[in-house]
Amino acid sequence: MNQKFSYHMPTKIVSANNELDNIAKYINGRKTILITSQGFLKRGFVDKINTLTNSIVDIVTDVKSHPEFKDLEKTYNQIHKKEFELILAIGGGSVIDASKFFSVYDYKKDAKFVTDMIKGNLPKEKYKLIPTISIPTTAGTGSEITPWATIWDMNEKKKYSLHLPDLFSEVAIYDPTLTLSVPKGITIQTGLDTLSHALESIWNKNANPITITYAVKSAKLIMQNLLLLCQNLDSLEYRDNIMKACMYAGLAFSNTQTAIAHAMSYYITAHKGIDHGIACSFTLPMLIDNVIGKYDFIDESLMEIFGELSSDKLRKLLKRLDISTEFSDYGIDEREFKELRNSLKNNQRVANSLVII
Ligand code: NAD
Repeated sequence: MNQKFSYHMPTKIVSANNELDNIAKYINGRKTILITSQGFLKRGFVDKINTLTNSIVDIVTDVKSHPEFKDLEKTYNQIHKKEFELILAIGGGSVIDASKFFSVYDYKKDAKFVTDMIKGNLPKEKYKLIPTISIPTTAGTGSEITPWATIWDMNEKKKYSLHLPDLFSEVAIYDPTLTLSVPKGITIQTGLDTLSHALESIWNKNANPITITYAVKSAKLIMQNLLLLCQNLDSLEYRDNIMKACMYAGLAFSNTQTAIAHAMSYYITAHKGIDHGIACSFTLPMLIDNVIGKYDFIDESLMEIFGELSSDKLRKLLKRLDISTEFSDYGIDEREFKELRNSLKNNQRVANSLVII
């Protein structure tokens, strides 16, 4: 583990039930675009926000899961016709990532400017950023406190990252009451995404004592609370614990990035349509088995999380959540596994990884 290190988190973090009621304070009179998704809109929150502030100048309600360039570019060009000073992102990781795409601008340029930057056709410089307030409504991705966004190109069957050093949200508000409506399947996916962030920041070349402390805390919370929450989806106590796990994992992997489980997951999501949270977590027991005994600090962290040097407890949890750990159950046979391995060449996430497969 790196003993010489630095740690950076410029986002103001607020954690409180019903903090949305105080949103006007954070907006502070700035002309604001609200970004959300249909899944969330159903719950009447847009109307509620309009009663709490009169700063909303435009609303985008149709961000889809795993956002794609083609949809984002269309919306980008529409909203940037208006003048606005702030983005308010209320939704899951897809909404927050889409908001990050919208937040990058240059006065004279359209969405293609952002796409070109992401796809490496333009240098990542000479851009401006509109500040963003991020309010996650799933407890999973940590996007509200990371400096990157995942944008998908399903035609190319490829995932791209918008990664800028200053892409952090201005404020992240963790309000577990907003996650009470998340259905069981998405609760499982997002909770396992969090576990993957935590473990991936431990078997990571960029790990340091701060990130390890957060990651262990996060993984323990997931192991102790995810199954209980799935058996009692209305429990605010378990929702709060899982949201805290998401926050701690974000505090860890925002400074380390993810590693090999995520590198593999992008192929599995793009080629097999498996949701991100499952794609990046069903391989975790295999990776634990691979890394045990190789690095003292990883063994110590795993001992603290699982109470033993074994993947058994995680395998049991996944089984009870009905998540298979077999590649074949995700449509990946031996031949395709070779293709998956080929997709990992020159991958930054693999370069971060202290686990080798
Ligand atoms: P999501 O944002 O795609 O949401 C999943 C579904 O849940 C959507 O239909 C949404 O409308 C619905 N939903 C959201 N909140 C709800 C609520 N409170 N009640 C009921 N329904 C609700 O899912 P996600 O897992 O949060 O995000 C996935 C995306 O995040 C992927 O594209 C993934 O690659 C990306 N991601 C980004 C980062 C990052 O740091 N930028 C990290 C991990 C994952």
